[in-house]
Amino acid sequence: MSAPDPLDPLDPSAPLLRVEGLVKHFPIFKGFFRRQVGSVRAVDGLSFDLARGQTVAMVGESGCGKTTAGRAILRLVEPDAGHVYFRGHDLPAAPPETLRALRRHMQIIFQDPFSSLNPRQTIAQIVGRPLQLHGLAATEAEAEAQVKTLMEKVGLQASYSTRYPHEFSGGQRQRIGIARAVALRPDFIVCDEAVSALDVSVQAQVLNLLLDLKEELGLSYLFITHDLGVVKHLADEVVVLYLGQLCERTTTKALFSAPRHPYTQALLSAVPHPEPGRARKRVILRGDVPSPIAPPSGCRFHTRCPLAHPRCAAEAPAEHTVAPGHVVRCHLYDGNSAPVDILAGAPNGGR
Ligand code: SF4
Repeated sequence: MSAPDPLDPLDPSAPLLRVEGLVKHFPIFKGFFRRQVGSVRAVDGLSFDLARGQTVAMVGESGCGKTTAGRAILRLVEPDAGHVYFRGHDLPAAPPETLRALRRHMQIIFQDPFSSLNPRQTIAQIVGRPLQLHGLAATEAEAEAQVKTLMEKVGLQASYSTRYPHEFSGGQRQRIGIARAVALRPDFIVCDEAVSALDVSVQAQVLNLLLDLKEELGLSYLFITHDLGVVKHLADEVVVLYLGQLCERTTTKALFSAPRHPYTQALLSAVPHPEPGRARKRVILRGDVPSPIAPPSGCRFHTRCPLAHPRCAAEAPAEHTVAPGHVVRCHLYDGNSAPVDILAGAPNGGR
């Protein structure tokens, strides 16, 4: 029997998730008196929507803030500023009982399935206890029966529920992580590099399982990944991050057919061409990603951007809408919505 749900009815016009100006900085302390000497600016003003039934991929190099953004959205880390609206509720402002009910509908699948599963608990305990805690199973026997059904749903034998995490392979452990995430019948799951620790052959199986569950259970995903092949396979929309800020946000189709931001174009140039025998011209970015403790002035990408011009170091670009639902943060689109090609160079030497 389902627990009473204290949530208001869903406003059909509101997106399932709306992120507005999300900020998360981590202070850095030093010395005996733990004086704050700076902060890691992990996420700086991120905004996007995720519609019910949609998969949004969040991509970028390691250290771009995508994992922090996912955790701040779920309030596993407390954001410093901004709003996260889920089912129309402003999460930080929601009363405790509403927040608790909302949390049930927002789950996460971690990158490392082993460290995210308690080694001292059986799978029946790991997956079953939350069911009882949230009132989705009245008794232990009821929880056990639900766990067995979930095990089969994720492609594992029901009898495995009495085993411990170390008795499973990496792919099987990730299936258990998925069973735990879907057990509470959520609307929304953050998949944080959910397949990147797995062998390539197992990755495909787990991705297909996630796609099947999305259809069957009506889920919506925020898929955090550095793998653009995965993005193309399962995302409806993509958010590209660089040093904690949005570079580009659009549909997967538009991103792969006509990427606008120079950083997105450089990322995509590394993806193999879909037609056999054809190769893309690779754009090699100079240098490494700068430190998020002291990000570059102006456009954070200017130290590596082949199209950078003097204004880029001095002034932070605004977000420009270049087509319906297609947002780019770059000075080159200031009053211009035509695609700029990183390989052809900046029009008029930049703006
Ligand atoms: Fe490159 Fe300047 Fe655009 Fe930044 S604003 S991406 S540095 S052209």
